[in-house]
Formats: sequence, structure tokens, C-alpha cells
Amino acid sequence: MSKSTSSLPLFPTTVAGSLPKPAWLAEPEKLWGAWKASGDELRQLKEDAALLWLKIEEDAGIDIVTEGEQFRIHFVHGFMEQLGGIDWLKKTKMGIRDNRYVVDVPTVTGPITRKGSVHSHDVRFARAHTKKKLKFTLPGPMTICDTIADAHYGKRADMAMAFAQALNQEARELEALGVDVIQFDEPAFNVFMKDVKEWGVAALEVAAAGLKCTTAVHICYGYGIEANTKWKETLGSQWRQYEEIFPALNASKIQQVSLECQGSKVPISLIEHLKDKTILVGAIDVATKSIETPEAVAAVMREAMKHADKERLQCCTNCGLAPLPRSIAVAKLQALGAGATLLRKTV
Ligand code: ZN
Repeated sequence: MSKSTSSLPLFPTTVAGSLPKPAWLAEPEKLWGAWKASGDELRQLKEDAALLWLKIEEDAGIDIVTEGEQFRIHFVHGFMEQLGGIDWLKKTKMGIRDNRYVVDVPTVTGPITRKGSVHSHDVRFARAHTKKKLKFTLPGPMTICDTIADAHYGKRADMAMAFAQALNQEARELEALGVDVIQFDEPAFNVFMKDVKEWGVAALEVAAAGLKCTTAVHICYGYGIEANTKWKETLGSQWRQYEEIFPALNASKIQQVSLECQGSKVPISLIEHLKDKTILVGAIDVATKSIETPEAVAAVMREAMKHADKERLQCCTNCGLAPLPRSIAVAKLQALGAGATLLRKTV
């Protein structure tokens, strides 16, 4: 296992998670495009794609890299597929993210168990091919619960704790394989604010329990897809949902919080509620194909610096770049890297 040998500069750069699948791996410019191969051929293509993105990230000056989620189609299902207690044939119609979209979801019909390792191959592969710090993303327990129907636990909080235990087993295994940052993705956190405080943060802490690597949570207003864009139009001129949950997150053991700032209506002053956390400032908008200038990246970071010490800030993307054309995603990563370089020269 080749360990990370890199040390981090001021304003380290990283990505929130997913990157586009190359056209030879899956249907491009789709969030959950179907694979274009199967079996050994598919495995090979996924590895090629991971290698490609690791190289592109390194060349763009990204300090904490990911495999871009090239090994999975869906950020939640990719994990759940390896768990026991789920009936994939028993589909239930469910309005997820508070009825933002209605989908057929699988159903939990028994105790959740982790049948075996889920992502160890992906991490082993990525770790062997980069000396940069490596981040790996997993779905958060609350977001998993919002993507599956329950016919066993009766209470969402209980089901979340069961998923959190399975996530923790997985996270510990990935940490042992050399992951530097484990990030839990919780887009459900700004939808169910009351639940976040009652059990969402507690479930997240169970998922991250005992980890010695850096732990992060990514919360966001979703990918730049139509359902999300429409929903955002209903949220008013200032998105203050985070104000309600940041105090609970700040009191938690999770070390980093990733949120969207570029082109977003989240008042950046809300990060003042995260005074004990490292903040992954989203400086790249995922809902537009226009490429940020390095100056625009630096400008968002300078705004963040008015509300948090610079030592606690990292330059990040607002969310995953998966649905974007590959060339746009590459250019956005380059802008992120160049923006951080610019910023370091001027502070
Ligand atoms: Zn996101």
C-alpha cells in the first residue's frame, strides 16, 4: 500500500465527490448513466476511468483527490447493494427529499447487515495510484434512509442507526487501506432540519465512530438537475436552512463540513456557526456549465475568510461534477486549482 506523502498547503483544494464518467464507461452527461460493459471488461474500464481522474486532479493542483466515484453508478445504491436486509424487488413509491422527486425505491425487510466489504477494491486501486491525500465518499445514514422504504424498523431513527453501524464497519476498513479523509454525503440534512438535530447528527457520529482519519460531511442543495433547480427557486432570496443545523454539526465529532457557496444563496456568514470545524468552501458551481475564473474562486474564498480563520478553509466544489460534460468538469477543476494558487499569492 502506497501511503500519501503529501503535506497540505494553505487553502488545500479538494472535490466534493463525483466526477463525470468518460463516454466509454457509461452514458455521459447523465447522473446515473448505465454502464457500457460488464464483467471483467467493466472492471477494467472503471479502473481506467479512476486513473484518468486521479491524473487530471493532480495536474489541476487538487491536493486531496478522489477516484471520482467511477466504480459506482449511484452514490447511495452503490453502498446499499452489498447489504443484507434489503429487498430490491419489493419496490415502494416514495417522495424523496420531502417529495422533491418521486421514485421507486427498494424496501428494508429485515435487519441491516454488511455482508462484506463494499468499496475496498476501489480504495486499494486509488491508493496504489496516487501519493496525494485520498478522500473517499460514503452516503450518510439519513440520506440512505431517505432513499429506501422501511418495512422492518418502524422508526427512521432506528433504521438510520442500523445503516450507521454498517457504514462504520465499512469506513474502518477503508481507513485501514490508507484513506486520508472519509466524507459522508448528507444532502438530506437541509431538508429534515428537525430530524438532523434529533437523530441525524447522532447517526453520523455512529458512522464515523473510532475513525482516526479525517472525517467530513457534505451537505448541499443537490446536483444541478432540473428537480433541484426548481426546488431552489422556492427557497427565497436567502437559503438559511443551514443556520438551524450548523450548531448541532459544530458540536459533533465530525471534523469538516462541505457546503456550496459559489452562485449559491447561502449567506456565507452562516459559517460563523462552524467555528470549530474545517470548512470546505464550495467555490465551483455545479449547476452551470460556465467555467469559473481563478479570480472568482479566490473571491468566494476571500468572502469566507471574513467569517472563519484561513487555516480552517479548504477550496472545494459545491457538489459532485458527475452530470457535467467531461471537458467542463476538467476546466472547473483547473479553475479551482488556479484559484487556490492565486489566493495563496495574495494573502
Ligand atoms: Zn452535493
